[in-house]
Amino acid sequence: MSDDQRPERKRIVIKIGSSLLANEETLKLRYAFLSALMGDIKTLKDQGHDVVLMSSGAVALGLNAVNKAPGQATLLDKQAAAACGQPLLLNAYRNLASEHNLSIAQVLVTLDDLEGRKRFLNIKNTLERLFDNDIVPIVNENDTITTEELRVGDNDRLAASVAHMVQAEKFVILTSVDGLYDRDPSEPGAEFVAELKDVSKYIAAASGTSALGSGGMLTKLVAANMAQHSGCTTYLAEGVLDEPVVGAIDGSRRCTICPAIGTPATAWHGWLSNRLHMAGSLTVRQAVADAIAEGPCGVSNTDIVAVNGDFQKGDVLHVYDEQGNELARGLTSFSAQDVQVLVANPNRETAELLGYSARPEIIRPRNMAKLDKTRLSWDASAA
Ligand code: GLU
Repeated sequence: MSDDQRPERKRIVIKIGSSLLANEETLKLRYAFLSALMGDIKTLKDQGHDVVLMSSGAVALGLNAVNKAPGQATLLDKQAAAACGQPLLLNAYRNLASEHNLSIAQVLVTLDDLEGRKRFLNIKNTLERLFDNDIVPIVNENDTITTEELRVGDNDRLAASVAHMVQAEKFVILTSVDGLYDRDPSEPGAEFVAELKDVSKYIAAASGTSALGSGGMLTKLVAANMAQHSGCTTYLAEGVLDEPVVGAIDGSRRCTICPAIGTPATAWHGWLSNRLHMAGSLTVRQAVADAIAEGPCGVSNTDIVAVNGDFQKGDVLHVYDEQGNELARGLTSFSAQDVQVLVANPNRETAELLGYSARPEIIRPRNMAKLDKTRLSWDASAA
């Protein structure tokens, strides 16, 4: 299958957080829930879907082994806990999967695997081959080897990235509440939001995390927004014991639906715009900002008023106008150091400045993806 083709079978990515998987006090697995989840995965597969399960829980399940409570664990404790918890998690899934006649596989990923194009395509190919063999990939971040700067940190956005990777049609985020409310659900008069097209409306209100998970409603909305722009509809639903996934997507139980907005022009554009980490940014002149709004164009050295970050050639940069609005994301043909030199010396030849001849085009038009108005800017995502 080429990268731009839609898969024949419908695909679903299901994400479950640590607080559904493990009891917050004992840090032991919640088997009844996991069994219900596996039952739903079996139903979805029998209906003809390919399913990916994005499962947290490695750290939570391993904390007892390293004698730490959730609030006390340092990064190193969490890395060690993940090494202990991940096999416990997969062992439980393997037992439950065989009860439901399912085959599973473990796929552990890091930030670099998703942000580097080659590695992204490697994982994609592996997932495709697992689907061909009727296997359910169970994905988690490889917490044991990731440090603070090099980790995604929350499985919500990581799962959205996987939903984009496999061109999923549906993305189900199971959580401890039944969906999104227009304010804190414990406040009197809080109203349930059944459908949410523009997640930016609720970003400011969505804060707070559970004791075990790393996300909160904020990362779920950011993840939903990433999925929306990959042509995937997100369901924010409660991880109940009775049909946790099927009941949400068939409409028999209420949940918040964030409908798909559209698909990127190409898989390449989708990858450029779906970022989990900011490598650096460029601020461009107003005339260039206007040109970007009009249609495909690149960024050359004379277009730039500011360069930020210590990026390398081949990193994806965020492009801003002078008012701080994020306009586009694009792959840089030069490192930060070289961009600084090219911007500071607009009248000199590249060969003279860098020792080799190249067009001073920092981002080429084909390597730039304009951001749709309904896509959250990087800064809103990090609110
Ligand atoms: N990867 C972490 C784990 O397996 C969880 C990250 C999250 O809670 O989103 O424990």
